[in-house]
Amino acid sequence: MSTRPLSCATFVAGEFRTGGAVLERHNPATGELVATAPVADAGTVEEAVRAATEAFGSWSRTSGFERGRLLRELGRVALTRLEDLATAMTLEQGKPLDEARGEVRKFAQAMRYYGEEAERVEGRTVPNESDDFLSVVVHEPVGPVAAITPWNYPVELVGWKLGGALGAGCTIVVKPSEYTPGPAHLLAECVQEAGFPPGVVNVVHGDGEVGAALAGHPDVAKVAFTGSATTGAALFRTVHGVTPLTMELGGSCPMIVSRHADLDLAVAGAARRSFRNAGQICIAINRIYVEEPVYEEFLAGLAAATTALRVGDGYADPTVDVGPVTMAEIRDRTHRHVADALDRGGVLVAGEAEADTGGLFVTPAVVAGAPASSLLMSEETFGPAVGVAPFTSMDEAVKHANAVPGGLAAYLFTERLAETVDVARSLDFGNVGVNTVDAGIINAPYGGRRESGFGLEHGPEGLHGYLQLKHVRVRHR
Ligand code: ADP
Repeated sequence: MSTRPLSCATFVAGEFRTGGAVLERHNPATGELVATAPVADAGTVEEAVRAATEAFGSWSRTSGFERGRLLRELGRVALTRLEDLATAMTLEQGKPLDEARGEVRKFAQAMRYYGEEAERVEGRTVPNESDDFLSVVVHEPVGPVAAITPWNYPVELVGWKLGGALGAGCTIVVKPSEYTPGPAHLLAECVQEAGFPPGVVNVVHGDGEVGAALAGHPDVAKVAFTGSATTGAALFRTVHGVTPLTMELGGSCPMIVSRHADLDLAVAGAARRSFRNAGQICIAINRIYVEEPVYEEFLAGLAAATTALRVGDGYADPTVDVGPVTMAEIRDRTHRHVADALDRGGVLVAGEAEADTGGLFVTPAVVAGAPASSLLMSEETFGPAVGVAPFTSMDEAVKHANAVPGGLAAYLFTERLAETVDVARSLDFGNVGVNTVDAGIINAPYGGRRESGFGLEHGPEGLHGYLQLKHVRVRHR
């Protein structure tokens, strides 16, 4: 199939513009050119930050009710563009079209949620020893925000930052991934249609160099980042002075399956959370620890569920479960992790050791019995491969689960209440799903521990991260 490439533009101070160097995005399923975008030069980044800085004055004083109305309107407009947004995501990133549609709906839900939260930014009064004083603690928006976002969830991850920042009264400059310029461009069109004042939302395109120029700008009051640990670490040196940063960097996520688990539920959860979006999700299951008595049965179930997944072009074929991976680097890393696990004694129970499917399609792989030291069991693959190992005591399973540098999400399957409470408490992760692999909801905080980053998205915390406190003490007598 052939579509005209989406021609993206820079969005600064309410206006779209093109010109200068252009980046190209090719469909990972077909190799076709599907989007072009202007690469922001230093002057454009400067103008975008200036627009956000100038707009901040009046936007920060716009009532929460009005900001909330506009956010909800943005959600509504995005739903009217659902097919365009979903198509751009599938063509540029590779996830099946239906999954992409779901992501647009979740964006709209986030806009509604943050639209409502914008009305609930409440301060407090604090007692003074003397009645001559009144102390109030108020929240104020931090200022213009730089949002640097990745390609795996190109609509939702922009949405969480937009919702929190705008709801708090901040303005924003978004630098989406160079692999997915289209969805961010279409969101900018939605922003314009929703009627936001010029400069409140700006979008500049380009690679890491543009991201660094934006993050390091002295007028940026906060940098919100989702992406790789390497870039996250680099950002500490990039930001100007002591500009605050929040970062979500992913990590290697474990799943523990107890002998008291509902095995059908556990198998379905494992297949879903290991391979959805071709494993390219920060909360993907990388490592599964299964209690000995149910190990073989679980493994057979997971191998069957994985083999049943249909791999292909999720734009051309609505029955596809797993699309292409987004870039060759991920295909190569997935193969490297699987090959290393097999070299170290693991056994392939589903998938292929070496892909011969061509293009960027990678058959989902399950490896049994790889040692803890293998890449698959110790590092984030961020591709469609998962390792499974047996355990004999829950303490041992928890020790394995926690034995990685990051702590974003962990999953436990058991029907035993005592086990649930003990293990959920012991897992050193920011998000724990028990008998569910859909651990995140928009109204509960989401974020990592240790090397998975810091700062929260979702929930009231996702908005409060863009606020700063001020204590005002008034002598009124
Ligand atoms: P991933 O490819 O896993 O998403 P990256 O960290 O490479 O992770 O990319 C996430 C976002 O960070 C993208 O928008 C990318 O362009 C941007 N980026 C990459 N390198 C830098 C950098 N040195 N400074 C700022 N932003 C960067």
